[in-house]
Amino acid sequence: MLIVMDKNATPQQIDTVSQKVEERGYEARPIPGGDRVSICVLRNKGAVDASLFIGMAGVKEVIPVTRPYKLVRRESQSEDTVIRIGDIAIGNGHQTVIAGPCAIESETQALTIAALVKDAGAQMFRGGAFKPRTSPYSFQGLGVEGLKILAKVRDEFGLPVVTEVMDYETFDVVEEYADMIQIGTRNMQNFSLLRRAGRSHRPVMLKRGMAATIDEWLMAAEYIMEGGNVQVILCERGMRTFVHHSRNTLDLSAVPYVQKESHLPIIIDPSHAAGRRDQVIPLARAAVAVGAHGLMVEVHHQPDQALSDGAQSLFPDQFEALCRQVRHIFELL
Ligand code: PEP
Ligand code: MN
Repeated sequence: MLIVMDKNATPQQIDTVSQKVEERGYEARPIPGGDRVSICVLRNKGAVDASLFIGMAGVKEVIPVTRPYKLVRRESQSEDTVIRIGDIAIGNGHQTVIAGPCAIESETQALTIAALVKDAGAQMFRGGAFKPRTSPYSFQGLGVEGLKILAKVRDEFGLPVVTEVMDYETFDVVEEYADMIQIGTRNMQNFSLLRRAGRSHRPVMLKRGMAATIDEWLMAAEYIMEGGNVQVILCERGMRTFVHHSRNTLDLSAVPYVQKESHLPIIIDPSHAAGRRDQVIPLARAAVAVGAHGLMVEVHHQPDQALSDGAQSLFPDQFEALCRQVRHIFELL
């Protein structure tokens, strides 16, 4: 860690910060620069808590130098992680397409969509049973009934299912039914949920928080891995920015960055990034071209009647086109 001092920091302030570093058992090595001094923190075994120094008199900023995530880091494991769910593999060298409605609305709806997405080439089925909705008046999902419908989809079509866990209390039941557990953008830093996911035997798909830095996201993954569950898949789903032409801004550069930093698989959800169906196919193509290990896409047989996220849900024929196009791109790569 580097503690960068203000240009006008006094020798007294530099000493005080250095002393505080040393009181923690680390070594403080002031490095004089052109117009300011930086204090390098050495001999720390684990991460140093930056908040100890931010706000001290004379401190301009605190820059972590060593990466705080250890298990997630590429250095901790030379081969890419590949996650296996039945016959499906997610990660290095594989291209996995997950599709289904935003929410499970009924058995007929789920089975109809599952048949369509399987035909088009989806390898996994998605659908929310517990839905995190902005408004308490919106459809909240079918709960356990929705999970039972997902189990039917798996039995009937042989598609493994992924569904979101919203809270600690319902983790056990979601874990019982899901082949892969999704932690949504709003829960990326729900630490008790992450710790519970760390004790799960199911693979966990961790979506990036809509305002999270990549470091925060990887640290959230570290929570799960630290708990003992090494089956983590990262999912970029768009960030909150100032634009109005899409619901979020898809951060495609996260893919090469994460692949440099980590051995974990990373997939892209173009549906929640776009928020509108006309952008989903182009973003999906870009995601595969940039090297994502897979896609998660919302599809509905009657998007106009969907109980959630209809505007971004593809019609089945569009999803079929998406699968065809991304297959070509993947083969080309
Ligand atoms: C979802 O996948 O249905 C969902 C709610 O996603 P996010 O957490 O990315 O908004
Ligand atoms: Mn949705």
